[in-house]
Amino acid sequence: MRKPVFAANWKMNVGPTEARAFLKKFLAKYKKRADRTVVLIPPAISLTTVVAGLARRKDILVGMQNIHTEAKGAFTGETSAAMARAAGARVVLVGHSERRYVFGEPDSATAIKCSIAVENGLTPILCVGEKLEQREAGTTEETVLRQLRAGLSGIEPALIPKVLLAYEPVWAIGTGRTAMPADASHVHRVLRAELGALCRSQKTAAAIPILYGGSVTDVNAAALLGAGDVDGLLVGGASLDPVKWSAIVST
Ligand code: PGA
Repeated sequence: MRKPVFAANWKMNVGPTEARAFLKKFLAKYKKRADRTVVLIPPAISLTTVVAGLARRKDILVGMQNIHTEAKGAFTGETSAAMARAAGARVVLVGHSERRYVFGEPDSATAIKCSIAVENGLTPILCVGEKLEQREAGTTEETVLRQLRAGLSGIEPALIPKVLLAYEPVWAIGTGRTAMPADASHVHRVLRAELGALCRSQKTAAAIPILYGGSVTDVNAAALLGAGDVDGLLVGGASLDPVKWSAIVST
């Protein structure tokens, strides 16, 4: 029922020239499929190059890795949701663990970013995930539920279905360690139950895709996608290689 979503988070990799080369190889391998959604999330500097390169492939969406909490003004170095949308972005990552833990972004900022994204016609992918010490202390559920409730706190219940969710355990990101499909599935179920409470309808929550991310590769993608309540993959490192990425999106 839920169409799988495959999102490539290129992080601070792939400038405009490399983006053109990537698209040439990837588009030759991946042909339009109605049964899945593919999203490319380049660094902001490469966004318009990727949008232009996909002029004949409207089936593939383009996203931003971050937006600012304010609509405009004296915020050197930042990009607003409206500008991102005007440049062709349709999706935006919010609360990625690197934003939270490298740049110190608090839950309050993820809340504003989710709501400003929705107001401007961007689909936020709200990322939640526990650190290793939180997993070991048995506070995984508490952590991801806090991040989920905080991230959606500025969005009225009827608009929550406009958001996608990604569960990315911090200890699995870029480390080569992946959550066991059953563990991912368990956290996804917990998140979906809470989504049901937040949008006051389990039926509505059942339609919201929850992606898994953290050291996903072309080798483990099928097992992760096969786990219950895992509706897609958010991929960093392995999405930089057009051959591996086309294998992943064809899972
Ligand atoms: P990774 O990154 O696939 O390189 O672990 C995932 C992410 O940070 O979204």
